[in-house]
Amino acid sequence: MTTGPRETPLARKLKARILSEGPIGVSEYMEACLQDPEHGYYRHRPAIGAGGDFVTAPEISQAFGELIGLWCAVVWQQMGSPSRLNLVELGPGRGTLMRDALRASVIVPDFRAALSVHLVESNATLRAVQKGTLAGCDVPVEHHDDAIRALVGRNRSIPDGAVIVIANEFFDAQPVVQIEFRDGVWHDRVVVVDEAGGLAFGVEQPGNWRCGQFVPASLTPKDGDIFEMSKYPAKIGTLLGGRQYDGPVAALVIDYGHAKSGFGDTLQGICEQRYVSPFHAPGESDLSVQVDFEKLASAAQAADLAVDGPVPQAGFLGQLGIVERASRLMSANPDKAGAIEAGVQRLLAPVGMGSRFLALGVRSPVLPTLPGFA
Ligand code: SAH
Repeated sequence: MTTGPRETPLARKLKARILSEGPIGVSEYMEACLQDPEHGYYRHRPAIGAGGDFVTAPEISQAFGELIGLWCAVVWQQMGSPSRLNLVELGPGRGTLMRDALRASVIVPDFRAALSVHLVESNATLRAVQKGTLAGCDVPVEHHDDAIRALVGRNRSIPDGAVIVIANEFFDAQPVVQIEFRDGVWHDRVVVVDEAGGLAFGVEQPGNWRCGQFVPASLTPKDGDIFEMSKYPAKIGTLLGGRQYDGPVAALVIDYGHAKSGFGDTLQGICEQRYVSPFHAPGESDLSVQVDFEKLASAAQAADLAVDGPVPQAGFLGQLGIVERASRLMSANPDKAGAIEAGVQRLLAPVGMGSRFLALGVRSPVLPTLPGFA
């Protein structure tokens, strides 16, 4: 928490709404900060990259996207090399991962020939950046605004057939409901306007009793414990589970998170690569949460899908051969060897991205264990 809150147009809009209609849930607050059509962070801001608020794995090293491209080609072979494959990326950022993945996969021409790429992106600025990044690539690329509408329902825009879904740092940007345990009952955690006129957390009484049902029975709450729930994993699990009857499905989710559900408030703001309060510059700083991989895995299993992992990012990338890939890149580009090595080390760092980021594989049960999860 380095800087005080900044009064933004979205902060003014939310305060006026809270003062006239009452407190809003944490999930509504997060949704507004990220997706408000007028002021939401993920609607207009470029956000990602060395000059943005945060740097992601594909922006750190080209080896990341390249290995994921080869991962996709192997999974396609595991699927029996279907003649059409929908390669879907949720939240492609600057399009860097997909560009590197497509470049690496030229060594499997039949895979490339089967591909239709579907980018699911809500941010208009990033959609334009992605188009620029992928301009000139020789596979069809289509944009979709919303994952749920793209993948399921009668009017779904991604056609039937085999599907591979890639999601790097996507689920951490999906809103969570927070509940707080006080005096033996769960309360809804909300956003209020405090006496000084600023946005602040509060609790609402009586809490939404139904939320307590989603806390795993293995966890015993004590006073002050906070539990987070996201609707998104269950939705994505169900829609992928439904699609497996039209063809094989596989998904790779990589994100900052924890392998087991637990208590804790993980909502954090990021602005210019520094951690800030969630109330710092609403709509102009990033907000994210840690992904609950146990919840994500159980949502997939509930939809009759099999899961592999989660495993730490370092283990996943290690099995895919990132060290060998980096050595080859370094010999081919001796003048960039230092930067290539530093990037890969950052992705594998035992007390950094290598362990804090987890990888989860989701697949139709007919498919064998996905690469990287043996
Ligand atoms: N995968 C990229 C970017 C991660 S940032 C990378 O690794 O660099 C999150 C991305 O997801 C952004 O592109 C953001 O605009 C997009 N996004 C977040 N929530 C979304 C949603 N609900 N629907 C569509 N896109 C979303």
